[in-house]
Amino acid sequence: MRSETDSRPLFRTRTQVGIVGAGPAGLMLGHLLHLRGIQSFIIEDRSEEHVIERVRAGVLEQSTVDLMHEVGLGDRLSRLGLRHEGIHVAFDGRRHRIPLAELTGGRAITIYGQNEVVKDLIGARVASGEPLLFEVEDVGVAELDSHLPKIRFRLKGGLHEVTCDFIAGCDGSHGICQPSIPASHVKIYEHVYPFAWLGILADAPPSSEELVYSLHERGFALFSMRSPRVTRLYLQCAPDENIEDWPDEAIWAELMTRLRTRDGWAPNEGPVTQKSITRMRSVVVEPMNYGRLFLAGDAAHIVPPTGAKGLNLAMADVWRMAQGLDAFYRSGSDQVLRDYSARGLRRTWRAQRFAGWMTSALHRGGNDDAFEHPRQLAELEYLVSSRAAMTSLAESYVGGPLD
Ligand SMILES: Cc1cc2nc3c(=O)[nH]c(=O)nc-3n(C[C@H](O)[C@H](O)[C@H](O)COP(=O)(O)OP(=O)(O)OC[C@H]3O[C@@H](n4cnc5c(N)ncnc54)[C@H](O)[C@@H]3O)c2cc1C
Repeated sequence: MRSETDSRPLFRTRTQVGIVGAGPAGLMLGHLLHLRGIQSFIIEDRSEEHVIERVRAGVLEQSTVDLMHEVGLGDRLSRLGLRHEGIHVAFDGRRHRIPLAELTGGRAITIYGQNEVVKDLIGARVASGEPLLFEVEDVGVAELDSHLPKIRFRLKGGLHEVTCDFIAGCDGSHGICQPSIPASHVKIYEHVYPFAWLGILADAPPSSEELVYSLHERGFALFSMRSPRVTRLYLQCAPDENIEDWPDEAIWAELMTRLRTRDGWAPNEGPVTQKSITRMRSVVVEPMNYGRLFLAGDAAHIVPPTGAKGLNLAMADVWRMAQGLDAFYRSGSDQVLRDYSARGLRRTWRAQRFAGWMTSALHRGGNDDAFEHPRQLAELEYLVSSRAAMTSLAESYVGGPLD
């Protein structure tokens, strides 16, 4: 930040909406605003390559797919995305299919990596000619409760100040926007799960056309994919484990143990191209705004990845925020913006409910595990034998319309 005695020049810019963070939330918001003729200024503290290469979510809900098409970014998604009309739940050595589309009037999920979504959005931003700055440093936000909040940062040694009508905090779970809200104005709900996910990408053709969520007595495992040549797999592990302690052979052995079913199905093996461990937690920030700062995506909430909701919630947030900003600039009404947090929190808690349920049904090691495991098996038996229970899962998994 700039001090009183700092003699370096200060570059001042004016925009309508300043956006901190160029993940899916910030980039989609910038695009939605551009389509509505609203100016925005996006800053990101990592490099463009890093943002594109980061391996994260891969399951798009129906409404996220529809949104990508609506905003003119459906071409690559149509060509490369894999539409899945069902998922499998495996336990006791057997796989059971849940026909998502049949149970939800044709809604489905699409496998399309978050990095592909980000690539599409960066392409659109560059084509729009609107500002998108990577590798900025020392980002701060100020005067949030005024009508002209500011974003300040350094870029290549120069000091910059962007004066905005609104700031969108899209800077993820380790960003600076949410902590800039005075503690007396915000409540943070947090739940830390007693396990983590070890995830790998492997150059191996997927051996199932649909995802397989598995509960094994040694713990949870998930079979997924990114393309017809790349398999994505996850294992439940302890939260304090180091990835260096997991050689590839040990990962494959554990995956095979937990995923192989009695009919002989198992994942195909191949060279591991990426591996990491992610701790699991749930966070909800309430409210999602303070003054002229509005939070979206992981800056406002984190859901355990079991329900595949994080990226989709981020998209729903910025869709709603863009509606509110559009109404403000068109008619001067801030009613939609005033409802932004309450509507977002309703969707967020619904997602927390579902992701929490999926997590507790499929992971081992909670309290009283000796009792819990047979109870979990009874829960899964019920799930796959009841059309009502499968419909409940399917509705939440494919996600509701944007609201
Ligand atoms: C390892 C991992 C696996 C995941 N798997 C899944 C999954 O399978 N399914 C699912 O739905 N979700 C998954 N998620 C969650 C999903 O990836 C996130 O919900 C999604 O990235 C949220 O998008 P976002 O734009 O809100 O935040 P992010 O993608 O985190 O983007 C925030 C951006 O802000 C930038 N930033 C941070 N601080 C600053 C700053 N001070 N100044 C400027 N820029 C800043 C960051 O570099 C980043 O680019 C996973 C997350 C992780 C970490």
